[in-house]
Amino acid sequence: MNTKNKPKVFFLPWDRHKELEKLIQDSSAVSGIQKNDYVAVKLHFGERGGDGHIKPEFMRPILKSIKNKKAKPFLTDTNTIYHGPRNNAIGHLEVAAEHGYSQNRMQVPIIIADGLLGDDYTNVDIDGNHFKSVKIATTIRKANRIIAASHFKGHLLAGFGGAIKNLGMGCGAKAGKFEMHCSVAPTVEVRNCVGCELCVPKCAQSALTVVSKKIQLDKNKCVGCGECVIACHTNALSITWSEGTKSVQERFVEYAKGAVKDTPCFYINFLNHISPNCDCMGMKEKPMLDDIGILASVDPVAIDQACYDLVVKKAGDVFLKAHPGIDGRIQLEYAEKLGMGSRDYELKNV
Ligand code: SF4
Ligand code: SF4
Repeated sequence: MNTKNKPKVFFLPWDRHKELEKLIQDSSAVSGIQKNDYVAVKLHFGERGGDGHIKPEFMRPILKSIKNKKAKPFLTDTNTIYHGPRNNAIGHLEVAAEHGYSQNRMQVPIIIADGLLGDDYTNVDIDGNHFKSVKIATTIRKANRIIAASHFKGHLLAGFGGAIKNLGMGCGAKAGKFEMHCSVAPTVEVRNCVGCELCVPKCAQSALTVVSKKIQLDKNKCVGCGECVIACHTNALSITWSEGTKSVQERFVEYAKGAVKDTPCFYINFLNHISPNCDCMGMKEKPMLDDIGILASVDPVAIDQACYDLVVKKAGDVFLKAHPGIDGRIQLEYAEKLGMGSRDYELKNV
């Protein structure tokens, strides 16, 4: 591919992050938006107790530029399948407001895209290898355009997560999240279990019981959400099965494809506070390296590949180090194979 045909990824170094408006302008992030378009600005509002999510001050210039087009932006995310405040729209909106994302402070509506309980979805036909159709949150499907604002960081099941994961896992309704996860049950190392039961209430499927101070997992109930792995501090529960992560990555790529089917989407990735785990963890994690910058592109594969490359160039493959055996590049290869974009790109400094 010559440079002319490569997708462009625009790059603003972190020491100039206050020039986000210039990045939006140079990358033509909002150029296709028409008057009265409903624009879903998809992000992760952050979990209670966490601090890695994108901060409201970064969303304001994006929203302002959409409003300047006389369109109708709203901030949106979907409910979680794990037990926690964000597994319904009321708790989700409360957490969002705690993190500064209220209508009053952002001057745009905050809408939980899959409804009160996470069951409001629209089937989108994709004819994939794992799914013939995917269950995408209805509000996102009804939008005329999507701007995906993604925090690029490590991830327990996927190695790392950026634009593709934000679209795939982040736009699926609860039933969709179940079917994306359902191939990876944790590995149980019973001798490591101390019977503390910290994992048990985390399981929304009631798949875990502690009998005689040892954990028992019902694989027929488990959907592989990984919440118990996060809760367990003795390594009695772990996910190291690379075949499982391959399947999960391919599944959320297929969901990402469905989320933007027939809907123009633009991507803005925040390569800062690059923590080992995702913002669902609800805890304060030390970043693995210094902040790098903000990227923008019309190509979800190119922007995630560029983020990964910038991280590796600066600090080596910190994602593989944090999650041995979990190769996040699988999602990029698969997304490229499905025609969602190109791993070959041109990085353009802003
Ligand atoms: S047992 Fe399965 S469903 Fe339950 S928390 Fe663990 S991974 Fe999730
Ligand atoms: S959190 Fe870990 S150690 Fe505690 S009961 Fe669950 S599996 Fe056992």
